[in-house]
Amino acid sequence: MLIKILNNISNNRGVLLLISLVLLVGMMFALHYANSDTKNLLGIIFNFFIAGCTYYGISSSKKHKFYWFLAFGAILSWAFCDTFWMFLELNDYTAEIFKEVSYVIPAFLIFLTTFSIYKRCIDETRSRQLIVDVIFIVLMWVVFSFYALSNSDDFLVSKDSVDILNGGFLILDILCMSIIFIIFFSIENFAKERSTYLLMIAIGIFSCFDVFYVFMDLDDNSLANTLYETIYELSFVIIMLGSFFLKGENHTHYVTKREILAKTIISKILALAIIPLLICTYVGFMTLTHVTFVMSVMLLYGIVSYHTATKLHTRIMLENERKMTVELEKIKNKRISDLKATRKRLSELSKNDFLTSALNKQNFELELSEMIMQKTLSQSVCLYNINIDKFKFINNTHGHYVGDEVLIITVDRLKNAIKHNCIIGRFGGDNIMVAFVAKTHEFDHSFIVNNILFELSKPMHIERHEISVNVKIGISHTQTSQLKTADLIANASVALKIAKHQNDKQHVIYNEINDKINYQEYYIKSLLDSVNFEKEFRIVYQPQFDIKTKKLIGIEALLRWHSPLKGNISPAVFIPIAEQMPLIVHIGRWVLQQSALYIKMINEKYGLNLYVSVNISPKQIDSINFVSEVLNVVKQNGLKSQWLHLEITEMSWLETSRIIKDVLKELNKNHINISIDDFGTGFSSISYLNKFRIAKLKIAKELIDNIQFDKINRNIVIAIVSLAKNMNIQTVAKGVESQKQVEILKNIGCDEIQGYFLAKPMEAEMLESFIASRHKLMSEN
Ligand code: C2E
Ligand code: CA
Repeated sequence: MLIKILNNISNNRGVLLLISLVLLVGMMFALHYANSDTKNLLGIIFNFFIAGCTYYGISSSKKHKFYWFLAFGAILSWAFCDTFWMFLELNDYTAEIFKEVSYVIPAFLIFLTTFSIYKRCIDETRSRQLIVDVIFIVLMWVVFSFYALSNSDDFLVSKDSVDILNGGFLILDILCMSIIFIIFFSIENFAKERSTYLLMIAIGIFSCFDVFYVFMDLDDNSLANTLYETIYELSFVIIMLGSFFLKGENHTHYVTKREILAKTIISKILALAIIPLLICTYVGFMTLTHVTFVMSVMLLYGIVSYHTATKLHTRIMLENERKMTVELEKIKNKRISDLKATRKRLSELSKNDFLTSALNKQNFELELSEMIMQKTLSQSVCLYNINIDKFKFINNTHGHYVGDEVLIITVDRLKNAIKHNCIIGRFGGDNIMVAFVAKTHEFDHSFIVNNILFELSKPMHIERHEISVNVKIGISHTQTSQLKTADLIANASVALKIAKHQNDKQHVIYNEINDKINYQEYYIKSLLDSVNFEKEFRIVYQPQFDIKTKKLIGIEALLRWHSPLKGNISPAVFIPIAEQMPLIVHIGRWVLQQSALYIKMINEKYGLNLYVSVNISPKQIDSINFVSEVLNVVKQNGLKSQWLHLEITEMSWLETSRIIKDVLKELNKNHINISIDDFGTGFSSISYLNKFRIAKLKIAKELIDNIQFDKINRNIVIAIVSLAKNMNIQTVAKGVESQKQVEILKNIGCDEIQGYFLAKPMEAEMLESFIASRHKLMSEN
């Protein structure tokens, strides 16, 4: 135990404790064996030593200095009292009162120490119960102590000053004892702060022994200079030990015990009765008055205690309830705000582009149509399609993370640049759309564009990179006509494409009136960029007839395009545009494949030998695999070679003159029929007719149109037909619209006719029923 304590306190203090214990033992020996002067001297030395050590202990800490100084004062004054005592003894001074009166000071200081600790307990616990308990216990104990004393003969008879002094000591001791008793009883964590705990134990020992001392004194059995006296010294050693623990100790906030109400009160009432019981045992009897007194005090205590405890209990409950409500409220609010945040995030996620705070495509389009619907007559909706220059380059050189950051910053800066109430959307990649409503007449795009360019020209600092972006802007607005959302977007895209092709321009405003063809072309190109073959393209077939028998001998495949944004677009419009794109090769391949499937189905189903004539663009002929692709289609679909005709225009001779020869040669070799389309209008390729095997010449509609009125045209047709006959080439008149034209062409000797007069281009199913009905008619005949 001692070693454990020594380990707990630092070395110096350990040594001091050992010395004090040695001194204590020495004193005990002295009290037993030595004369009274030696005993007194040793006692004085010991007490001064302990006082010094205690001061040393206290001075090492800043905590609770006040009651520790009181305790130190008590030990020090005790040492002085002992010195005074010795002085009186040396001078043979026998009056007891003088010897003992000085001890009032340490006794009072001990009481003050106890009271200070008690006050600290009350301050920290705010417990009224502590006060009630002490009042009752003091009342009970003091009354009974004096009742006991009043039964002592000395006290009754003499009542001298020493007895009064002893009475004073007794009161202080009882006060201390009752306070200590209550503190130990009520404070739950009192032992946790070891310094104060030891101090209280020491005072407890001191007070108990003092009561005993007083009683012995009253019985004229003075314990002065006996071995018993070392108990005072022992209590001082314990105080000293307590002071050693002050250093490095944490402050403990005292809390009262929370026990079951009834149980606590009953045990306290019993504790209240301890002293009366002890005293009555000591005195030897007990009168009815005393029993009544004890019972009343216990009852009163019970009532008061119950009252305060219940109040406290209720207060604690209320306090707890309040805390819980606050806590619950906090939890509830947090849950609600979490829920709100989640909901907001979810709706943002469903509405917004995952990377930037911009709207996603669907929502942007929705909001844009809303904007268009709600604008007034004097307003127009402006749409900016913004593309970051060389965005792919940024992504490739700096990484996708940097690319993503560039997009985020760009969107943020766009918001700053466009002061109008705008909506921003991202259609994937760096394709950013901004729309806002502006007053039609006052609006100046260059102001906004400059703002955008200025904001975006500021360098962006991303990771270690400094990036400046440049943008191209395509602008469209509803000013020109009552445009639909899709048109507005498409127009802005067209304008953007034009801007991208013009190095000197950062932005282009779509304007239908100024440059319709140009824009139209860009628009169609942008639509073709994302065309879905199966959904948007289909093929119609226009029959070709034998002019004499009016028998159906073949069909021409004509492509139809229904754009979901623009509706039906004529091949005369989009084919020349597609021819500027690699797309024409894919279109040609698709038409060829569909036509092959169709003619095979028709011929096999109805036992016919019709051909399908497919238009071939010069750009298609240019592609390396053209011939092999044609041959593959024939082979894979199991077509007879005469079932397929390829129509090439005269222009093909010009545009693909280098390759055409090889292609024609290869096609001839593989028995694929070739027709020359629109013969007689453009560049005459008569020399080729000799070199290659050509199946048909299709005479241009322009020549046929006025054949009955225009002599020159008629002569040209006559010349073409006779030329063809000489070379064993069939002739087909295109665009025949009247019986008269048929008559003339028949007279001229033209072999076949194609035109609205006999049949317009038909949907595949319609043509099939047309063929089916003719087939039935023929088989009936
Ligand atoms: P084209 O090869 O001269 O095709 C004949 C065009 O004249 C067709 O127009 C047809 O509908 C129209 N036509 C036929 N008979 C009459 C008539 O009696 N009166 C009038 N007014 N027109 C008649 P369509 O289908 O609009 O085709 C226009 C052009 O588009 C075609 O001219 C052809 O050069 C091109 N084309 C159509 N489909 C394809 C294709 O699959 N590939 C390629 N490369 N070009 C195609
Ligand atoms: Ca044609």
